[in-house]
Amino acid sequence: MNYTFTSEDFKTEPYWWGQTLRPETGDSRLPAETDVLVIGSGYTGLHCALETAGAGRQTTVIDAETAGWGCSTRNGGQISGEIKPGYDELSQRYGTADAFALIKEARNALDWLGEFVEEQNIDCDYRQCGRFIAAHSPRQFRSLVASAQHQPAGLEQDLRIVAVQDQASEIDSEYYHGGLVNDRHCSLDPAKYHAGLMHLTMKNGAQVIAHCQATGIERNSGGFKVSTSRGTIQTRELVIATNGYTGSVTPWQRRRIIPIGSYMLATEPMDLARANQLMPRQRVFSDTRKVVVYFRRSPDGRSLLFGGRVSVFESDPVKSLPALRQEMLRIFPQLEDVRISHTWMGFVGYTFDYLPHLGVEDGVHYAMGYCGSGICLASYLGNRLGLQLLGKAEGDCVFSDPKFQTRPWYNGKPWFLGASVRYYQMRDRLS
Ligand SMILES: Cc1cc2nc3c(=O)[nH]c(=O)nc-3n(C[C@H](O)[C@H](O)[C@H](O)COP(=O)(O)OP(=O)(O)OC[C@H]3O[C@@H](n4cnc5c(N)ncnc54)[C@H](O)[C@@H]3O)c2cc1C
Repeated sequence: MNYTFTSEDFKTEPYWWGQTLRPETGDSRLPAETDVLVIGSGYTGLHCALETAGAGRQTTVIDAETAGWGCSTRNGGQISGEIKPGYDELSQRYGTADAFALIKEARNALDWLGEFVEEQNIDCDYRQCGRFIAAHSPRQFRSLVASAQHQPAGLEQDLRIVAVQDQASEIDSEYYHGGLVNDRHCSLDPAKYHAGLMHLTMKNGAQVIAHCQATGIERNSGGFKVSTSRGTIQTRELVIATNGYTGSVTPWQRRRIIPIGSYMLATEPMDLARANQLMPRQRVFSDTRKVVVYFRRSPDGRSLLFGGRVSVFESDPVKSLPALRQEMLRIFPQLEDVRISHTWMGFVGYTFDYLPHLGVEDGVHYAMGYCGSGICLASYLGNRLGLQLLGKAEGDCVFSDPKFQTRPWYNGKPWFLGASVRYYQMRDRLS
């Protein structure tokens, strides 16, 4: 289906896939046995495999689709190193020391990722561009100001308030009521990052096998026998790295992950002068709504990449594209004449406590539940999981501590999602 506002070569796949070819995986024969089997070839799975293969463990990574097909090549490329719950909420739940540790380690993960990309020389347009958090109401602006002025001791960040009368230096929009700049946040090209990471992981000796879906897991004396669409494989260690795509083969994890669709569009390339006017500093942007929108310019600066959730229930991204474009035009009405070149969606893995989790259940290792901050946290938790499998102390991670919760009658299908989205949309309108 093409609309009047879509370009002639309009594509229903991630913008990033047009910039970076889907990675080759070479020989796709499944070995009969392996030391470590990783299910899922996104950032979590590859970072884990990079560690275990690098230490000489025979490591096999499988993916039901092409390598990196999940969120790791579909996301917005915005990197924060922040977890969703704030210090006060975490303190109430776990006490102040744990609250501090959780926030601190997530922020350290951002530094860790920057160093990793630099040390490994991964060509992925990584930039410390900073984020503008835009207030969608005067009340939310006051709340941003208060949060910048009253930061928990030891967790202070350099946050800069931008009043509405000054915000043209950040964004050419009258929709917002000022905002906050956090200079630490970064951006990258997610598919390029994935391709570089995969190249490195395979160079370190891991085998990545695409189009190989895990269909059954059986525990035995040697570890696990895993059935796949390409035969069975015996493994000593098993890692689940399926996040928002966690399915019935791992019911325990599935009962703990809430898959929520996030939808994106890309505009056709604009004149650079016009794109510069829109967001002069090339930062990443998100706003204060609970049903958040996020946007940025593409690494070449010419296209706007805009994401969010506009439908109450999951939808075909082509069907919800007019509503997503309307949301973009509410913020940037001057883009009425700019055509849309891509639209796509993916399933973000949320959790009931809004925290990512790393652990072992019945001998099976897992890391997942990044709640939309997975570029940094999936990379970091995947790395920690790999180190844990090697028995290294550096693998210790505070995200192993909180209990990975589920809810009665939840089986992986979020029947409550429609009502929650409606509720949060209403709260956004009232705040
Ligand atoms: C539209 C969108 C925008 C986002 N924007 C951002 C952002 O700007 N910043 C940010 O930090 N995060 C963002 N995220 C989230 C981020 O992309 C994810 O948290 C991260 O990529 C998770 O990586 P992962 O390796 O854990 O999972 P994924 O990359 O999702 O990989 C899971 C893989 O498991 C495979 N799989 C599932 N079941 C099986 C099976 N049975 N057998 C074999 N393989 C299986 C899937 O095919 C999939 O490839 C966004 C997500 C979406 C969808």
